[in-house]
Amino acid sequence: MTSARSAIDLHRNFSYRQNLLLKLKIAIVENKHALLEALVQDLNKPLFEAYSAEISFVLEEIDFALQNLKAWIKPKSVATPLKLKPGNSFVHFEPYGRVLILAAWNYPFQVLFSPLVGALAAGNSAVLKPSEMAPYTEKVICKMIKTYFEPDDIDVQMGGPEETQLLLKQKWDFIFFTGSTAVGKVILKAAAENLTPVCLELGGKSPCVIEEDAALAVSVKRIVWGKFFNAGQTCIAPDYVLIHEKVYAKALELFKKYMAEFYQQSLQSSDYCKIINKKHFDRVREFLKNTEILYGGASDPLSCKIEPTLIRGDLQHASMKEEIFGPVLPLFSFSRSEEAIAMIQKFEKALTMYIFSEDSQKQQRYLDAISFGSGCINDCLLHYANNNMAFGGVGASGMGAYHGYSTFELLSHKKTILKRSSFFDPDFRYPPYKDKMKTWVRFFLK
Ligand code: NAD
Repeated sequence: MTSARSAIDLHRNFSYRQNLLLKLKIAIVENKHALLEALVQDLNKPLFEAYSAEISFVLEEIDFALQNLKAWIKPKSVATPLKLKPGNSFVHFEPYGRVLILAAWNYPFQVLFSPLVGALAAGNSAVLKPSEMAPYTEKVICKMIKTYFEPDDIDVQMGGPEETQLLLKQKWDFIFFTGSTAVGKVILKAAAENLTPVCLELGGKSPCVIEEDAALAVSVKRIVWGKFFNAGQTCIAPDYVLIHEKVYAKALELFKKYMAEFYQQSLQSSDYCKIINKKHFDRVREFLKNTEILYGGASDPLSCKIEPTLIRGDLQHASMKEEIFGPVLPLFSFSRSEEAIAMIQKFEKALTMYIFSEDSQKQQRYLDAISFGSGCINDCLLHYANNNMAFGGVGASGMGAYHGYSTFELLSHKKTILKRSSFFDPDFRYPPYKDKMKTWVRFFLK
């Protein structure tokens, strides 16, 4: 076993990082069937959803990192002002060291391994804590990591809150957390003890607006897909929809049409996820009480499934008091954009927002008025798949952002260096200062 220090030094080497990323790719490819099977056991994840949003998503991240690693790790030259010449300025990307990665259960593979790719690319070692709520995936991940990697490079810890609390007592160089806002606060408090930097990828109530000028059929179709993918257990799923009153009736018909078309026999279908466990099944089912169900509403405790369901929006209803994180979608109507904006602003800053409108001025009005992490105009979820854009929350939906180069940047300390020439050394800065203040004011503070 190498010491922690020498392990970190090793990681700084380009080919060491490249080898780890290649080994990770091999490990995933060789274990993909076991992972896909585990995702069926944990969530009844359809093969299409499991492959696209978990396995191939991470493989693409690895390929992207491998293609760009050489360029990423090179020190970046930045401009040097005249007063600091002769000299040059650089940013060196230094690994933080050992990164703790804590994951949620809804995409139990992807939200653990996507940050890992950037952590390795940045030269860090990592300890993974998969979610105990997806136990089949957790087991496959543990076995895979222990088989393919030295613990100095990647280690894994199984368990729930108790084990996480123990991990949080240790000193880490960075903590990357994906999960709820409530546990995010626990992580931030623990990190404060050692002044450990953190990234918090949290959740919240992500709004979706359909304006009167939206391309209605395709908008509703995309919202239905985005909401009921993974049975609504997606951090960036539309949490509630605001529909312009002039198109509300037509939109409702379209919602029903596409939900019927996409999710026939959803309680039995292998194309539709189950709710992760009984506790969440009961929590989501509560949202079906004391409300007007517009579509769906059936559920099956044996398979832990809840039909894709529309309910009439009501700000006083339980569904609007927390993140829904399940297949229940409240629909509201509004008459003016300002009304929709005012309603959205009643909530904490969301992780995501979706704006459906063909009018660029209206789109801009929402973008200017509402703060949220990231989002789409005229689509759902797909912004998450662009490796060239950082993804993350703001305010209650999180801090820090990642994906592609942004993960590398997030998990690197940016060590900035001014390299000066020793050749030219005017007296100007040295005491005694005498009249130097006047020159200073004249040249630098005018
Ligand atoms: P969670 O916060 O309950 O759990 C996340 C992790 O924290 C798990 O590994 C769990 O073991 C650990 N944990 C739970 N309670 C703890 C405690 N008291 N002390 C220490 N550790 C604890 O979240 P979850 O239920 O797994 O996931 C759902 C949430 O995650 C939703 O809010 C969702 O929006 C969010 N999420 C966000 C993203 C994102 O990218 N922003 C992605 C997926 C999920």
